[in-house]
Amino acid sequence: MVALKCEICGGSLTVKNDIEIFECEYCGTKYSKQVLKKMYAEITNTVQVEGIASVSSLLQRAQEFAEGQDFEKAKEYYNKVLDINPNNETARKWLNTPRLSLRDQEKIAQIAEYIIKGNKLNAIKVYNDLTGKGLLKSKEKIESIKVYESTKDIINELLTDI
Ligand SMILES: [Zn+2]
Repeated sequence: MVALKCEICGGSLTVKNDIEIFECEYCGTKYSKQVLKKMYAEITNTVQVEGIASVSSLLQRAQEFAEGQDFEKAKEYYNKVLDINPNNETARKWLNTPRLSLRDQEKIAQIAEYIIKGNKLNAIKVYNDLTGKGLLKSKEKIESIKVYESTKDIINELLTDI
């Protein structure tokens, strides 16, 4: 609950919802319900703007998105932190570390699986979808990968180029 202050004397106004005209108990200034609503809206907006602009709350939001693997959103919020403080270490560090979304990780695992099964065509398609490098480059990449013994080796090989 946000406290309203009398515009004349600065005294705090404890407003009840059910009255049409409210009188300041310190100086007697009268406020209509409409005016109080407007004052209240102004205060609430100010508080929200301050909330959005605060680095610690932005960092918290960014971290929440990062933990939820929503890297696009996390990136957006870390960048907002840098807009306020370009030297923020946490945001800088995070933004400088390359990251794959869960969906991309799944795609890479899928490519590896296709390679192991000898389904090159599908591997090329998914690789192209993942990297946007075009079918020719994707074909070259997939064909350069030998069928290693473990899926992990193939995944590591795929990751070197992404
Ligand atoms: Zn007053």
